[in-house]
Amino acid sequence: MVQYSADPDVIVIGAGAAGIGAGRALKQLGVPFIILEAKDRVGGRAHSDTASLGHLWDHGCHWFHSADVNVLREMADRLGHKYLPRPRRPYANTFMDGSWSCRPLRDDYVWENLAKVVEVGHSGRDIAAAEVIDPNHPWNPMVRHWLALMYSADAEDISTLDAGRYRDTGVNLPVEDGYGALVAKLARDLPIKLNTPVSAVSITRNGVEIITSEGTITAKSAILAVPARMLETGRIAFNPGLPPALEQAFHDVPMGWYEKIALSFDRDVFEGFDPSYADIFDPVAPTTQPFNFELHPFGRPIAVTHLAGKDVRELERKGDADMTAFALEALERAFGSDIRKRVVKSATTHWSSDPYINGAYACAKPGRAESRKQFLEPLHDRVFLAGEHVHQSFNATAHGAYLSGIDAAQAAAGKAGHGSRTADPLWLAA
Ligand SMILES: Cc1cc2nc3c(=O)[nH]c(=O)nc-3n(C[C@H](O)[C@H](O)[C@H](O)COP(=O)(O)OP(=O)(O)OC[C@H]3O[C@@H](n4cnc5c(N)ncnc54)[C@H](O)[C@@H]3O)c2cc1C
Repeated sequence: MVQYSADPDVIVIGAGAAGIGAGRALKQLGVPFIILEAKDRVGGRAHSDTASLGHLWDHGCHWFHSADVNVLREMADRLGHKYLPRPRRPYANTFMDGSWSCRPLRDDYVWENLAKVVEVGHSGRDIAAAEVIDPNHPWNPMVRHWLALMYSADAEDISTLDAGRYRDTGVNLPVEDGYGALVAKLARDLPIKLNTPVSAVSITRNGVEIITSEGTITAKSAILAVPARMLETGRIAFNPGLPPALEQAFHDVPMGWYEKIALSFDRDVFEGFDPSYADIFDPVAPTTQPFNFELHPFGRPIAVTHLAGKDVRELERKGDADMTAFALEALERAFGSDIRKRVVKSATTHWSSDPYINGAYACAKPGRAESRKQFLEPLHDRVFLAGEHVHQSFNATAHGAYLSGIDAAQAAAGKAGHGSRTADPLWLAA
């Protein structure tokens, strides 16, 4: 039974990867704290679901990115949480113009161009990704699609410098037991109050005052581990007002859009089909929207579609039926119309309209990469930001969020009079 502190020194708002990282550090440092979470579950954008399809799939994060240096991958090892032990064959599998092609990534036009965007960033230039790619190339929609998946923004809205600052080791491993399930395991022994939305954070003479649906709580310092859009839109009010530089940073590094559509089948309709990750793209169809599918991940009879960028925001607004129809049409094109008869269930994500998330992840606009640094600045020296938007090199990821939570916890603990101690990011209670 987890004990709640009646008189916390630090209050953490949000129980996603960042809030949980903060909680684990505060627990390790022996600081009295509490985590307040608006939803009826922990994890935020880390959410594994077994109920909707009867097979596990992740609504949000699913891959250990930069897995060889990923703190949450190391935690998975400690907890015996399963993931694909080595990267898949580095091939791109694409259904285009009525047939499949399978190419090594090093010879693939799409991957070449994704790398070009990053290289421009490495050279220190901060321009739009759209300026780096050839708009007239027949594969341009596919390059744009992949850029959107990586940055959750359209190519015109992606800063090359921000892209170049992301630390990519190239090792990406999907989490078999669920990324959300892993983050939830890390939350088990933490004092988290669910169903407790925070509406305002105020700076007081000696600390902070937090207004929640359950009343007002005070503490010496606080960590705002909520999606950037919660503060940007004033859904959590900050008194005496957000610093103009932070308001500007929210505008310069906005959250983008990314949704998934999942289908389950009455049997493994992709049996014998080797690539478990495929692109489907028909450049001559009325809609030239490319799709990505994870096909029968870990042998499960499901397909999970990935779509990102502004168009998916519109599709998500139309609702489940339109989203599912869109994905099924693409699957039919590549696998034949019989596949429709095999569908048992469907499920969709709604990160874009989720009142406590309201987007996918944050990406700097062209010319604005420097603004991300603003998220590192404490508010009135008492309120610290944490989250995927805050981490400067593992931004947009769950492990980056987790590490940013640990950093914020150390700073908040110091402010609350607990000295300047560092927490071990791999700490698990004995
Ligand atoms: C479709 C999709 C696919 C992704 N794929 C990957 C991937 O493969 N690998 C990867 O590493 N990352 C991936 N990501 C990104 C990753 O999921 C996020 O970067 C990470 O989970 C964010 O963690 P966080 O703690 O910053 O925010 P969140 O997980 O959003 O947590 C914030 C928490 O704050 C709570 N909250 C909000 N408002 C309030 C309030 N007023 N009061 C109290 N609580 C509040 C929310 O309910 C939420 O639980 C993906 C994201 C999406 C959307």
